[in-house]
Amino acid sequence: MDFKEYIRVIPDFPQPGISFKDITTLLKDGEMYRKAIDEMKQMVSDLKIDVIAGPEARGFVVGAPLAYALGVGFAPIRKSGKLPGETIELGYDLEYGKDKLAMHSDAIEKGQNVLIADDLLATGGTIATSVSLVEQLGGNVVGAAFLIELEELKGRNKLIDINVYSLMKY
Ligand code: IMP
Repeated sequence: MDFKEYIRVIPDFPQPGISFKDITTLLKDGEMYRKAIDEMKQMVSDLKIDVIAGPEARGFVVGAPLAYALGVGFAPIRKSGKLPGETIELGYDLEYGKDKLAMHSDAIEKGQNVLIADDLLATGGTIATSVSLVEQLGGNVVGAAFLIELEELKGRNKLIDINVYSLMKY
């Protein structure tokens, strides 16, 4: 299955020099969206997962259907100021910018096995921060799963000791 045929590559977005991998062209195709999530489910089938945590916004688009398919819970990782309850927060660098991520303090129970899911692994900053948040809450990160991995940016190197799964590599 060549999922890449369904990814639209947009040069110089959101900044000159960045080759943006647009997943909306995959998502709008119901059959391919389902196949992509099913394949991700297969990729992580050896793991024992209690909860999936995904960073907004595209981490929800991947993480929530994967959680549904696996029959496990979903914990949102959001930008600072969006979650209504008590949160923990961490600052991080993006491929293009800086931000802060937050999780509800009670999103993960101590000792739960957590899979982190997002659309794309670039420099790994978002996911490394997500891993730190989950670990601060007492969760055990069992893996990180992506639709796309930009290998050149070596995001995997920030995820030492974590199993990394990606459906497509660029
Ligand atoms: P990282 O923190 O550098 O690994 O960047 C990953 C985050 O940036 C993910 O949450 C992606 O949604 C977003 N991102 C970075 N580059 C792209 C891209 O080319 N296409 C779609 N999302 C991207």
